[in-house]
Amino acid sequence: MDFAPSARTQALRARLDAFLERYLLPHNPAWHQSVQDGVYPPPFLEDLKTLAREEGLWNLFLPGLRADEPGTRLTHLEYAPLAESMGRLPWAAEVFNCSAPDTGNIELLHRFASPAQRAQWLQPLLEGRMRSAFAMSEPDVASSDPTNLQTTVHREGDALVLNGRKWFITGAAHPHCRLLIVLCRNTPAEDGASPHAQHSMVLVPRDAPGVQVLRNIAVLHHHAPEGHCEILLQDVRVPASHLLGAWGAGFAMAQARLGPGRVHHCMRTIGQCELALQLAAERALERRSFGKYLSEYANVQDWLAESRIEIDQARLLVLQAAWMLDQGEALPAAAVRAQVAAIKVVAARLQSRVLDRAIQVFGAMGLSPDTPLAQFWTWGRALHFMDGPDEVHLRSVARHELAQARTRLGAGSAWFTTPEQMRAPPRIR
Ligand SMILES: Cc1cc2nc3c(=O)[nH]c(=O)nc-3n(C[C@H](O)[C@H](O)[C@H](O)COP(=O)(O)OP(=O)(O)OC[C@H]3O[C@@H](n4cnc5c(N)ncnc54)[C@H](O)[C@@H]3O)c2cc1C
Repeated sequence: MDFAPSARTQALRARLDAFLERYLLPHNPAWHQSVQDGVYPPPFLEDLKTLAREEGLWNLFLPGLRADEPGTRLTHLEYAPLAESMGRLPWAAEVFNCSAPDTGNIELLHRFASPAQRAQWLQPLLEGRMRSAFAMSEPDVASSDPTNLQTTVHREGDALVLNGRKWFITGAAHPHCRLLIVLCRNTPAEDGASPHAQHSMVLVPRDAPGVQVLRNIAVLHHHAPEGHCEILLQDVRVPASHLLGAWGAGFAMAQARLGPGRVHHCMRTIGQCELALQLAAERALERRSFGKYLSEYANVQDWLAESRIEIDQARLLVLQAAWMLDQGEALPAAAVRAQVAAIKVVAARLQSRVLDRAIQVFGAMGLSPDTPLAQFWTWGRALHFMDGPDEVHLRSVARHELAQARTRLGAGSAWFTTPEQMRAPPRIR
């Protein structure tokens, strides 16, 4: 395994960082002002997108793009450092057409959409002309376990009819959101079908009659302008051709969607943690109390050191996951799934710890909106739930470990030194 950034990644990262510093950072205060004034997306965003695309900094995330689709075709491993760079500024990814949940939705459409669906939804998404949301979670059931989902879909003539309620649907309040990819329970239930074959994915236009965005839910009192929305679906009727993939294949497709998306989330997290550590170290060098700089206190030094060690550990694990995804079928799918589950837990824990320390170094200012720390902390807290809670990922890692152990059950006793083994040493000849 070689995680050294390729020459292509190094060149792109240098250009991306320069673009971010030259065009995006100077607009950051105006971005916040615009959102605060209720103007979202800010008027300059489209100009920045056009510029990024002209500079070849566009769709950096999708390895399998076709020849006629715009983008760079980087591997997951090559893209990871670029996601880290973008993570430092939460609105940056959209400028490069690399923002969640569109990236996951694009991957989904790329793999499973029919030619007509590609033309209607995938092409505009790849060109950044629209945005989309992925609607799985529901308020009335534990959505960690998607077999619980209750939103229904049934066939009626040449139509699919949906009913239910979704919530925390990221991106649904974005004014350019045109598509909801909705995971629904098939009705009537099919006798004998496995619990994992009873759901389907339906492509629902955001403005379809019966779709009602009820509210944009605040996350720890922070309202994301693109929204984490509660959505009511009441007798929503779409043509049968809006079924994505096969009837009953919703679960399998949801799994496929989440792998690369988690690597992106984790690398963006690492970018935020790097920035938080940098800010904390600078603050510790400048701020004095009781006759000493904060950087001279042993506990502050420990915090900085622990953050450095944990960030570097996490980055290596995430790069390994990206590398594993790039190996495709050469590696067992179960091993890749377990690794992706592991990084999701590691990244959420990392962000909570590193941000908490950085905020402590900053004093009260760390809680204010004047630095990015408070927003990063909030995001880190949410990360413990997004794409499934930590406990479910831990369960996946443990199940994989136990499955491995089952295949070699008993082999561990070779390492024992029981009295019986000690009394009866084997003969060499
Ligand atoms: C900011 C944000 C954005 C989101 N964006 C989206 C989105 O775009 N689309 C979407 O569909 N959803 C989205 N979600 C929802 C997210 O996917 C769910 O919150 C998550 O899957 C958990 O479901 P739940 O909230 O129903 O928790 P529940 O399923 O009710 O679980 C509650 C708790 O039970 C415990 N638990 C559950 N299962 C186990 C287990 N097997 N072992 C041990 N403990 C367990 C865990 O501690 C868990 O936190 C978002 C959430 C947030 C916070």
